Amino acid sequence: MAEHYVIVGAGECGVRAAIALREQGFDGDVSLIGDEGHLPYERPPLSKDGMLAEVFAAKTIASAEQLADAGVTFRHGVRIDSLDREGKSIVSADGSTIAYDKLLLATGASPRRLPGVAGKRIVYLRTLDDARRLRAELLPGKRLAIIGGGFIGLELAASARARGAEVTLIETLPRLLSRAVPEGMAARIQQRHEIEGVSLIFGDGIAEIRHGADESSVELKSGRVIDADLVLVGIGAVPNVALAEQAGLSIDNGIAVDNRLATSDPDVFAAGDCCSFPLDLYGGRRLRLESWRNAQEQGNLAASNMLGANRTVDTVPWFWSDQYDLGLQITGLFDEGTTHVARDLGNGGTVLFCLKNDGRLVAAGGIGHGNAVAKDIRLAQMLIAAQSRPSAAALGDAGVSLKRLL
Ligand code: FAD
Repeated sequence: MAEHYVIVGAGECGVRAAIALREQGFDGDVSLIGDEGHLPYERPPLSKDGMLAEVFAAKTIASAEQLADAGVTFRHGVRIDSLDREGKSIVSADGSTIAYDKLLLATGASPRRLPGVAGKRIVYLRTLDDARRLRAELLPGKRLAIIGGGFIGLELAASARARGAEVTLIETLPRLLSRAVPEGMAARIQQRHEIEGVSLIFGDGIAEIRHGADESSVELKSGRVIDADLVLVGIGAVPNVALAEQAGLSIDNGIAVDNRLATSDPDVFAAGDCCSFPLDLYGGRRLRLESWRNAQEQGNLAASNMLGANRTVDTVPWFWSDQYDLGLQITGLFDEGTTHVARDLGNGGTVLFCLKNDGRLVAAGGIGHGNAVAKDIRLAQMLIAAQSRPSAAALGDAGVSLKRLL
């Protein structure tokens, strides 16, 4: 009988894995199961161009025909509620049992909720349905309060301003993007939001959110009150681990996998936003990445390893964000290094390199108009992968090609 490989979660990672199984020659049965009621779609446009387009159209990752042509049985609107590892089967919310030979959990992440706060006027942004609802409300003159100065909040602030809404963004910490972006770059983003008319509040917490049918208000710990038509909460995401946890798999800031993306059960793999994995490049440090490219790369890798390739994760973290006409890209991990060196690209773009004490390049971040920093970040990523120790003088001199340092 043909083997059956099953993937739970039909996002960026799950779809990539399903197609990669075929690309890599698997001739058994492949099932891709997702709980959303849509064809698989890209999430990055939901806070960016999707919000601004004349007609809101989801950007699909794979059409029904593409999935059928690849011999992937796609079931959408089906939630998997339990996993029986001994019996090698999963059970959906409607009670049907699906047997597997190998299983991939690509269940992604969900927005972190503000405890004890719910209501019609309090919204989150993760899904196409969230985005459609939010977009319909972002009209000229509408007041949007955003809680959280991370990527989702800032991208949405930019889109909301472009749609003519009034935006107030509240951040508990003293600056924007404190988790992943160095101070100088965050300051440039802050300045741009201020120029665009976003009202930014730092160092204040939420005391209470009051909400009625048409309006809400956010009371801050300082006593200040922000009245809003809509409150968007963007305070990070939490990995979807319920299924893995119920099945007794190891959890550690996500479904814990080894450097081949296998869970504590050799027939169950996990990949994408839902998992944490050790990265050899940073001394085996356990990471959980929430990035589009990582989801794709891990989908490919999980497929290879389900087929027995035994390949290890060798990625250099990378993600991007677009706000107004500014493009930001980060590669590597800034908290691994101590010394920063800036390079002015001369095209309005700046790249900031981050070196460890021993001189090794561990991260780089760039900000500029559109794609101004893309080439340099790509080369920086190669330097990081090669564990290079370029001199600070060379990094800081735009006359020295990064290619030459490789
Ligand atoms: P997901 O895309 O979350 O997919 C997981 C799927 O599994 C979901 O559909 C979920 O509903 C489903 N699922 C979960 N549990 C079950 C279950 N029990 N049964 C069935 N189905 C289940 N990254 C960047 O690098 N750059 C960007 O600019 C960027 N912008 C973003 C903007 C927004 C608004 C969002 C939300 C994300 C953005 N990201 C960006 C992050 C990127 O989209 C994610 O890292 C990527 O989508 C993760 O893919 P995934 O397949 O691991 O998880």
